[in-house]
Amino acid sequence: MSTNLRTHAYAGNPLKSKTPKSTDTFSPSSAFESLKVLIPLIPNHPAPSPDFKVLPFSKGRPLVFSSGGGDASTTTPIWHLGWISLSDCKGMLASRGVDMDEDSLVYLGPKVEEDLVCWAVDVSEEEDGVVSVLESRKLCFVELRTLMVAADWVDQRAMDELAIAGHARALLEWHNVSRFCGSCGGTNVPKEAGRRKQCSNKACGKRVYPRVDPPGESLEEAVRRETWEETGIEVGDVVYHSSQPWPVGPSSMPCQLMLGFFAFAKTLDINVDKEELEDAQWHSREDVKKALTFAEYRKAQRTAASKIEQICKGVEKSKSLTTDFNVESGELAPMFIPGPFAIAHHLISTWVDQGSGNVHSKPQASVSLSSL
Ligand SMILES: [Zn+2]
Repeated sequence: MSTNLRTHAYAGNPLKSKTPKSTDTFSPSSAFESLKVLIPLIPNHPAPSPDFKVLPFSKGRPLVFSSGGGDASTTTPIWHLGWISLSDCKGMLASRGVDMDEDSLVYLGPKVEEDLVCWAVDVSEEEDGVVSVLESRKLCFVELRTLMVAADWVDQRAMDELAIAGHARALLEWHNVSRFCGSCGGTNVPKEAGRRKQCSNKACGKRVYPRVDPPGESLEEAVRRETWEETGIEVGDVVYHSSQPWPVGPSSMPCQLMLGFFAFAKTLDINVDKEELEDAQWHSREDVKKALTFAEYRKAQRTAASKIEQICKGVEKSKSLTTDFNVESGELAPMFIPGPFAIAHHLISTWVDQGSGNVHSKPQASVSLSSL
C-alpha cells in the first residue's frame, strides 16, 4: 500500500495557509470585532457571516467525538474534532463560573469555503471523561498523542484535523505560559485575536509572539504564508539558505532568529502590506548586481568606527549608529541593499552570484522571517 504522505503530521494546517487581509471579514481583526459584538447577545445573537466555531481544550486535550465503529461494526471508528457553537462555548465556560469574553478565544483561521472562522478555547477546569452530548454527539477530551496514533494518515481530513488540533494546542499552551511580561512583570494581554501578546505596561509594551515551539506550521509553510501576507506573491518551492541570530531588533521585539530562504514565485503581482513591509519590487539580476557594490558599506563602516571613537573620547553621544548607516547607504545606492551584517545581503548576493541559465532563473523572491 502506498502511504502517499503529503506532509509531516501537524504540518499542512489548512487554516494557516493564508491569513486574510485585515479588511477581509475572515481576518483576525474583523472576526475579533464581530466576536466582541456577538458574545453579549448570546444566545439571541443573529447568525453571523462568517459563522464561528470553537474547539475547546482541557489540559492540552482537544474535544473530539467518534463515529463509525460500535459493537456490531467491523469498520474502524473515526475521530473528529468536537467543534462547538459560540453559544455552547459560553455555556461550557459558564458551567465553571467563567464569563466568556472576546479574549477567551484565540483565532485559528478561516474555512472560507464553509463561510467559517475557527477559534480555540481553554476550558481546563473540565473533568475527564464524556463531557456532554451536543447535537447528539458524545464529546470528550482526548490526548493529542492518542489522536495522532489513531489518525488514518492516508485520510487527508484526518491529517488536516490533527494539524489544526496541534496548532491550537500549542497556541493555547503558549497563552498559558506567557501571562506575564518577562521584562517588567506586567500583565500580557492578547492582541490580534490571540495571535500575539503585548505587555499592558505602556512604558514597556514588549511584544510576545509564539516562537519555535508552537508555529503550527513547517518553515516552508511559514515562508509561503508570510510572503503571501506581506507581498501578495504566491510562492511554491522553498529552499533553505541559512539562519542568523539577530539580537538587534526593535525594543518591542529585541531578539530574533532570522531564517533565510529562496522561494520560487508562482505569481508576479505585488501587493505590499505596508504595516509589515516597507516595499517589495521585482528586479533583474543585472540591476541588483550593479547595486551590490561594497563601497558604501565600507564608507559607512568607517564612519561608524570613527563615531565610536568620538563617543569613547566623550566628544559625541550618538546612540543611533545603524540609523546613520541606513541613511547614508540609501542615498548613495540606486536601490538599498542591507549591509553584509544582514542575512538579506547574503540572500541577495547569493542570488546574484548564481547567474542565469540554471534553475534559479525562474522568478524568485528572497525571504527572511523575523518571527514565525
Ligand atoms: Zn513589560
